[in-house]
Amino acid sequence: MKSQARVVVIGGGVVGCSVLYHLTKAGWKDVVLVERDRLTSGSTWHAAGGFHTLNGDPNVAKLQGYTIGLYNELEKISGESCGLHRSGGLILADSPERLEWLKMAHARARYLGLETEMLTMAEAKKLHPMLEEQYFVGAMLDAADGNLDPNGTTNAYAKSAKIAGAEIYQSTRVTDLKARKDGSWDVITDKGNIHAEHVVNCGGLWAREVGRMVGLELPVLAMEHMYLVTEDMKEVIDFNKERGHELPHIIDFKSEIYMRQERQGIVLGTYEQACVPWQPKNTPWDFGQELLQPDLDRIAPNLELGYKHFPALEKAGIKRVINGPFTFSPDGNPLVGPVQGLRNFWCACAVMAGFSQGGGVGLALSQWMVNGDPGFDVWAMDVARFGEWATRSYTNEKVRENYARRFSIRFPNEELPAARPQQTTALYDTMIAQGAVMGDSWGLETPLWFAPKGVEPKDIVSFHRSNDFKHVKAEVLGTRNGVGVTEIANFAKYRFEGPGAEAFLSRLMTNKMPRVGRIILTPMLNPGGKLIGDFTIAKAAEERFYMWGSSQAQKYHMRWFEQHLPSDGSVRIHRYDMGLVGLSIAGPKSRDVLQALTDEDVSNAAFKFMDHRSMDIANVPALINRVTYTGDLGYEIWVAPEYQRKLYQAIMQAGKAHGIVNFGMRALLSMRLEKNFPTWFRELRPIYGGFEAGLDRFIDLGKNDFIGREAAMEEKRSGGTLRRVSMIVDAADCDVLGDEPIWHKGKVVGWVTSGGYAHYVDKSMAQGYVPKELAGDTANGAFEIEIIGENRKATIIIDPPFDPEGKRMRS
Ligand SMILES: Cc1cc2nc3c(=O)[nH]c(=O)nc-3n(C[C@H](O)[C@H](O)[C@H](O)COP(=O)(O)OP(=O)(O)OC[C@H]3O[C@@H](n4cnc5c(N)ncnc54)[C@H](O)[C@@H]3O)c2cc1C
Repeated sequence: MKSQARVVVIGGGVVGCSVLYHLTKAGWKDVVLVERDRLTSGSTWHAAGGFHTLNGDPNVAKLQGYTIGLYNELEKISGESCGLHRSGGLILADSPERLEWLKMAHARARYLGLETEMLTMAEAKKLHPMLEEQYFVGAMLDAADGNLDPNGTTNAYAKSAKIAGAEIYQSTRVTDLKARKDGSWDVITDKGNIHAEHVVNCGGLWAREVGRMVGLELPVLAMEHMYLVTEDMKEVIDFNKERGHELPHIIDFKSEIYMRQERQGIVLGTYEQACVPWQPKNTPWDFGQELLQPDLDRIAPNLELGYKHFPALEKAGIKRVINGPFTFSPDGNPLVGPVQGLRNFWCACAVMAGFSQGGGVGLALSQWMVNGDPGFDVWAMDVARFGEWATRSYTNEKVRENYARRFSIRFPNEELPAARPQQTTALYDTMIAQGAVMGDSWGLETPLWFAPKGVEPKDIVSFHRSNDFKHVKAEVLGTRNGVGVTEIANFAKYRFEGPGAEAFLSRLMTNKMPRVGRIILTPMLNPGGKLIGDFTIAKAAEERFYMWGSSQAQKYHMRWFEQHLPSDGSVRIHRYDMGLVGLSIAGPKSRDVLQALTDEDVSNAAFKFMDHRSMDIANVPALINRVTYTGDLGYEIWVAPEYQRKLYQAIMQAGKAHGIVNFGMRALLSMRLEKNFPTWFRELRPIYGGFEAGLDRFIDLGKNDFIGREAAMEEKRSGGTLRRVSMIVDAADCDVLGDEPIWHKGKVVGWVTSGGYAHYVDKSMAQGYVPKELAGDTANGAFEIEIIGENRKATIIIDPPFDPEGKRMRS
């Protein structure tokens, strides 16, 4: 065994082997993998081996497409068979809502380059004669679906890595990890130590335990999972004989089963409601290639429905039942990337679909390690997407919810209930008492909209406009015509202090830092010129800056800041989290409300647009920014949490004379739409450049050598390839949700990033990306957006439909 290596990968399941292979492919040859037992000994060996591209997140779906495409290459390099069966798969919808969901998945596949097709049930029946079509309303065919041999595939990765120079040590357990001052690691194993520059946690069922070696409690939990294998079935044999190929895979949403052909029988697995976590606290180190006790009673309801939908199954003998554990994160997507607060410690854990996702995870992580960036958008599986609130017991509740919902659809206005409320502000009860319908915003309860007296504060979940429509409209009108107040605790807030603070921020941000008392908006780029942040920065004093950004990205951003922090102690960063909370007042009467609460002069001359002040509001010490995301006259008022109730009461009291209204996140998002404002993680993501996103006026190429400047200069010169556009949509009763394809002259040319109803201007709107050459085509109805299977006319607008000259914000 080597005593020194550039990388030690811990864990020889499909994920660890993929990471090892991809590291060699990216050019790092001095890499080793340490496996406690034998390769595949965790959850990998007993997997059902199915693969598919379907995923709620388009970027993960794309990575799944990459994984599936990789297997032929692996077989060629390694000479090992992956045991591939590319049979295609059918996803069956039993209700109109599920069919709508499939239509949306199908539309999304168009711009992802994935091959899917909508089928009638008669067509589906032809492909899979065992199904009873009367129980379904439609189907989607995914040509990329299939299955493989988990053992062969893992070995194909391992062998390909070894051919490229990697080494693998089996029967060797990592018992501890010790960080050195220079950021490298001593990897302690029961066979000796390895000094490594980087460590990757691919511990699968033991990922939690490996995390604990470095003081991490990763949000990951294993669940028991059962599938059964039938004896040979006449129906299968006859089908193969007649057609000369295998039966396609099936996902049956209603009975929550998946199935595929296995030899001349069927493999049938379930995601049952009565699901059971496995080893919720500690995974025993001596768990080997063992199976768990099957419990058919638990999956009986699924089987009963499944047998009704596929009657031939009921008569089939059961050859064996597999019950094995595998891991999930709270939202079901993997945990990948470097861990904030640690140096050179990487994760590739909670991969619940190793044979659909393992390749993409390995590719992303290896590029991240070798190039400093994953090379594409991996936010949906970034380990940084969970905060400190994702505790072990929180994870347990969320993973069970996620498992039981594996084949459920999620509606755009659906908030999932498990483990809530987790974090609340001091105003939670006050907001609930006023009819607030709450949503979960990075673990924090945040008002979405307010039900007036007599209206039940509850969303009716739907892909169409729903029961909140007229109430959100009332909140928008109340704000735009008078004044509204909303909670903004769900922003990220930071303080940067010290003699090096300005230079540090200036190096990271594309915009020039403001003067004392002023605010700027600024994107942040990676070295490739892609957007990795979008912030509001206020300079409060020579060596003190406040910054606001996306709450979801707090760990993601902290990781980046820490990575670039000078080692001389000249910059101190404080992440406030819930230590600073806020209220925003907006609308033409908001100045009157503010003035009533302070003896400072807040007139337009004394307190201008983009000014920052520290002042007492209703006796409360506050930081105030004269900006709001509504694009109206307005203010953000930031206070310590102990003052929030008092501040809110004072605002409501002062606002009474002006008919003040509460407004929630949905009204805020509606108002930003009619101003053409983009949002982080929708319009602004690491796959877009700053100029492509239309942030030109916040990128000062002449100010200094900021990170990403060279790439930004090149993008400016070439114009990039895409453009963010705003569109008015000729919608019927449903607005865009995001991820719909944009058509132009009969071809899919782009995609929607977000949208909805812009209530003040009374228009359905969308934002998205199209090729830059088409961004100037403002002809009426020049584009179409495919909304739930229907192409609706869409027109690019250059100026925002609300207050195009920005007078309201400025006067
Ligand atoms: C019944 C069942 C059916 C499934 N069906 C499918 C399917 O059809 N399709 C699909 O894509 N996925 C399926 N899965 C999920 C799939 O098995 C997992 O996604 C995959 O195995 C995850 O691989 P991994 O490498 O992350 O973890 P694991 O396979 O658990 O590998 C982790 C490895 O790390 C090693 N290790 C841990 N700690 C240490 C240490 N300290 N030192 C050294 N080594 C260590 C372990 O021994 C283990 O080998 C199924 C799972 C089950 C249980």
